Amino acid sequence: MNPETSALHPSSRPVPSPWLSVVLPCFNESEVINETHRRVVAVCQSVGRPYEIIIVNDGSRDDTWSKLRQLTTQDPQLVAVNLSRNHGHQAALSAGLHFTRGERILIMDADLQDPPELLPEMLRQMDGGVDVVYAQRRSRRGDAVLKRIFCAIYYRLLQRLADNHIPLDTGDFRLISRRVRDLIVAMPERQRFIRGMVSWVGFRQEPILYDREARFAGETKYPFSKLAALAVEGILSSSGKPLRIALPVGLMAITMSLVFGIYALASRFFVHRTPQGWASLLCAVAFFGGAQLVVLGILGEYLGRIYEQTRARPIFLVDSVLRTTDEIPPPAAEKPGLS
Ligand code: UDP
Ligand code: MG
Repeated sequence: MNPETSALHPSSRPVPSPWLSVVLPCFNESEVINETHRRVVAVCQSVGRPYEIIIVNDGSRDDTWSKLRQLTTQDPQLVAVNLSRNHGHQAALSAGLHFTRGERILIMDADLQDPPELLPEMLRQMDGGVDVVYAQRRSRRGDAVLKRIFCAIYYRLLQRLADNHIPLDTGDFRLISRRVRDLIVAMPERQRFIRGMVSWVGFRQEPILYDREARFAGETKYPFSKLAALAVEGILSSSGKPLRIALPVGLMAITMSLVFGIYALASRFFVHRTPQGWASLLCAVAFFGGAQLVVLGILGEYLGRIYEQTRARPIFLVDSVLRTTDEIPPPAAEKPGLS
């Protein structure tokens, strides 16, 4: 085990087993991390039950980790997990979930676009027997216009394609019950789209509406390329429908070629004129060449995921875990860098 794991700070004292866990993945969030920690602590304290805050440093290149180290010396409820490198948001979230011990788990971003102050209302909703309270964006003033349009179209497409119901305009900001957390952690897939996985689990899931503000400081860690990759991941991990696109496209092509063949024969025998047109021929060849490549590309995407899965590498690798007490045992069945 890494020497930093379970490091004992001078302020060390026993911490009661938490009832509530808050998970925050962060990548280069040095500008916001102190403020986020302060606001999350304030909300957790107002709840009045034992809690823990798990912040996962996803291979940040700024001084996020040194700030987290500093925070752990002041806050015995804080568990800081340092991943071996940048594994991506969804893997970092998976790492955070792995370390949670609470009965209820709040998942949120570290940039304060997800207001932690929603927590008491979410807890009340869960008191009524709900397993997942997901925060649905009523508005997203904080995001760029292009991103808002992209997301609006994407969430609707995802909902149509997904095999199970995925709510519209909903990110990973949600409160989940222990049993939902256990099921998600036990899922073996390497490519993780947590919101799709949570929807798939089922039980009672209810929305809570909120307005998404701009991030507190810093820039988005989701440039368009990463966002597009997450979008593709969402569809491919939630649906097998793209695989079936070849059949209707092929049937359409056969129908079109039959119609065109009949037209060509009729022209030849009744009008005594063979239809002309290398341009239309070229268009048809190019169209079907393109359609075949698209279908091959879709097959390749699924095949790549099968390849990743058969390699069975861990989803994330943990460098170290910092907490101010050694009273917290590592989660059961913990392997280094597990997944
Ligand atoms: N994040 C992460 N690893 C990454 C990218 C992002 O842990 O590789 C974290 C980031 O620090 C933030 C959350 O994921 O807490 C969402 O990222 P961001 O706010 O930049 O995305 P946006 O809200 O702009 O879509
Ligand atoms: Mg954000």
